[in-house]
Amino acid sequence: MNSTLVTFPSGRTRGRSTIVEAVPSGERHGLVVSETPFHPLDHTWPDQPADRGTIGGLPVVDCVTGARSATGEIFLGADIPVRRGAEGWDWLVVHVTETPLPTGAEVDLEVDADLRAALSAGHTACHLAALALNAALAGRWRKETRPDSLGSPDFDQAAITSSRIAPNGSVDVYRLGKSLRKKGFSADDLDPEKIAREVNDRLAAWVAADAPVRVEVPDAGLTARRTWHCSLPHGEASIPCGGTHVSRTGELGAVEVALSLDDATLTMRTGCGG
Ligand SMILES: [Zn+2]
Repeated sequence: MNSTLVTFPSGRTRGRSTIVEAVPSGERHGLVVSETPFHPLDHTWPDQPADRGTIGGLPVVDCVTGARSATGEIFLGADIPVRRGAEGWDWLVVHVTETPLPTGAEVDLEVDADLRAALSAGHTACHLAALALNAALAGRWRKETRPDSLGSPDFDQAAITSSRIAPNGSVDVYRLGKSLRKKGFSADDLDPEKIAREVNDRLAAWVAADAPVRVEVPDAGLTARRTWHCSLPHGEASIPCGGTHVSRTGELGAVEVALSLDDATLTMRTGCGG
């Protein structure tokens, strides 16, 4: 197996490696190295955007996930026919450039550190907001539901339809339809502003606690099952996560959410900084 080794989970933004593969990406060039600090967009759960930066001095205009089948065929992004981490496939970080570079060349890899820092902040804030939302909605469950790592019914996992991380923020969309009601969740008379106030109070306490954040990395492969951890005053929080994060909640500055309810869709916009 020759999956790309990744160093972004520990926060790295620089590296040096050898180009081991060059694949066409439309009119552009997809460069694969043995080890990279670049975070690619995930094709199964595309929450955190791709890193930007340079490879061998050339701008990386996009960074996508690649999958190589047992027969050596490489698929990129949305064309990958299997789920993230499927066995029997190599999982590749593909750096997309306008200009080709030869395989065998040793190159410097440099991620745009400012953008990365803002995306890491947005991603950590997103996880904290999800946990705070679970806690604020805990009283609405009428049936036993799988709890999150802090013990609240895991509304986030049960109802989420999409999560998009942005610099210093995120947008999470939840479906409050029939299937969620069958699982035991009542959305009757849900007041988004009241819930948001509860969420924000909890977030303020978690930021004030300056809790340490880390990503547990079982192995260096791109699709290793990594876990986000945060040692909060309420307990040790953990969430499976393929992205990047800050190292303490205090780095986020203020974290605030706004909730809006439209038909059976609850949207949570999270922002941090300041
Ligand atoms: Zn995550």
